[in-house]
Amino acid sequence: MSTTHPDVTSTGADGPVVLTGTPVVPGVALGPVIRPHGAVQLPTEDAEPVAEADRAAEKERFTAAAEVVAGRLTERAAAASGVSSAVLQTTADLAKDRGLRSTVEQRIDAGASAPVATVGAAQQFADLFASLGGLMAERVTDVNDVRDRIVAELTGQSEPGVTNPDTPSVLLADDLAPADTAGLDPARVIALATRLGGSTSHTAIIARQLGLPCVVAVGGLADVPEGALVLVDGEEGTVTVDPDQADAQARVEAAQAAAAALAGYTGPARTSDGHAVQVLANVQDGAGAQAAAAAHAEGVGLLRTELAFLGHSEEPSVEEQAQGYRGVFEAFPGAKVVVRTLDAGSDKPLAFATPADEANPALGVRGLRTTRLNPGILTRQLDAVKQAAEATGATPWVMAPMVSTVAEAADFAAAVRERGMVPGVMVEVPSVALLADRFLQHLDFLSIGTNDLSQYTLAADRLSGDLADLTDPWQPALLRMVQLTAEAGQRVGKPVGVCGEAAADPLLACVLVGLGITSLSCAASSVAGVGAKLGTVTLDTCRRAAEVALAADDPQSARAAVREVLDAA
Ligand code: PEP
Ligand code: MG
Repeated sequence: MSTTHPDVTSTGADGPVVLTGTPVVPGVALGPVIRPHGAVQLPTEDAEPVAEADRAAEKERFTAAAEVVAGRLTERAAAASGVSSAVLQTTADLAKDRGLRSTVEQRIDAGASAPVATVGAAQQFADLFASLGGLMAERVTDVNDVRDRIVAELTGQSEPGVTNPDTPSVLLADDLAPADTAGLDPARVIALATRLGGSTSHTAIIARQLGLPCVVAVGGLADVPEGALVLVDGEEGTVTVDPDQADAQARVEAAQAAAAALAGYTGPARTSDGHAVQVLANVQDGAGAQAAAAAHAEGVGLLRTELAFLGHSEEPSVEEQAQGYRGVFEAFPGAKVVVRTLDAGSDKPLAFATPADEANPALGVRGLRTTRLNPGILTRQLDAVKQAAEATGATPWVMAPMVSTVAEAADFAAAVRERGMVPGVMVEVPSVALLADRFLQHLDFLSIGTNDLSQYTLAADRLSGDLADLTDPWQPALLRMVQLTAEAGQRVGKPVGVCGEAAADPLLACVLVGLGITSLSCAASSVAGVGAKLGTVTLDTCRRAAEVALAADDPQSARAAVREVLDAA
């Protein structure tokens, strides 16, 4: 197939229409389509200014509406857990944000009604976030969501978003606000498909946490009517409209049987012929590490340390940092824990570490490059990791993000070794994959970050839904980068892992192992799926899967060819 973008395909004149997109959470579900409620009507101007005497009451009306919205979201946050709860609480906090309130009040002071002032103030914030780019730009969705909820409350319109349906249903949408996906009841919304979004979008992250089959960037989705029966296949990346019922039911049952098999997974992972592959977890704090241990992860393959820094306007102290790392080491006594040093910049700008005026932040001062402007941040962080390691008896592996040159890796390795820890770097820039042998002369391991490596190999912004087909981790050029790196590791007997989202896809995991990858690190909720899948294949089958994936011209044919190899084995 020579498809260059997810598209619509049909199985025949009278056959069901099959829409294709990017698969992000495996599983198969069949149900009627529901869609989010219609858009809230947003007033942009008032017929006449609010009289001065009424402005205080108008401000109170805004405050009351914002409190109702925040209260509802906080209630839903309390009923949810993990990432879902955090996402809902963040949106609730935004509804109560003092900056938003004072901007609205200034507009009311100038004569605007509360709904018009809310729309104007939200626009001001959205413009600001959009201009900051990266993860901050993703907050525009939150701002718009909060705006819609407050305006609905003020004007008596129904609350926007998704009402959990009575019958188990499939939610189709253009895109989903984080607060919508976080409040979903997985017993009643059984699958998600969106027209926009990529494999690292909020929709994908929450769907993964809830274990909902999910496909994003689906072409032709807008034409599927509410109530139509659809089959979502989160492994194939398809949405089949009006499928043959018996066939669809058989696919759902097969997927359920596979899911039940996962429930018994306790690790450690190995192929059916005994080849060991560590299946580790990506975490951001001690609580996440505990959850990963409960999910039978064999350790931590990626501790994203910057996520604990995100809300800070100043660098946390060494003691504060060490306290956080201790919680992670304690969850995995004696096991492998890979700490990634601060990955600030680009989609994760930090006030104290990232230049504000970069023209092109994804190619700018991010990750290890932060040390060019402020070397102390790295040395203090390494001291904190060492302090936590000494307090818990751990020997952490420590790796740097966004490394491009051998000299950077050598300097970093020296600083890590000086503190008695194990040095490595992430492979996110093609230059590291190309010269992996030389990097490994200085390092004890490499860990491939496929999210960024695909963005830099295919020259496509990882946050762009329009380009999700380019950042698909099944792109053969990305797999070639993985192969180059893994082979370099094998030549010198040093471990090469994958810790990007690619490692969460059970089918792709077989390919990665066939390419010579020694460990896979993914969200805790994906550990059992990946580990169990590896137990069904031999190393030789993985190698054949790798060969056909590399030989394919595009992600869709790579997936199809690999599935054929695995089915035939
Ligand atoms: C990656 O780039 O694949 C990775 C794991 O790092 P992050 O997603 O945090 O940039
Ligand atoms: Mg990265």
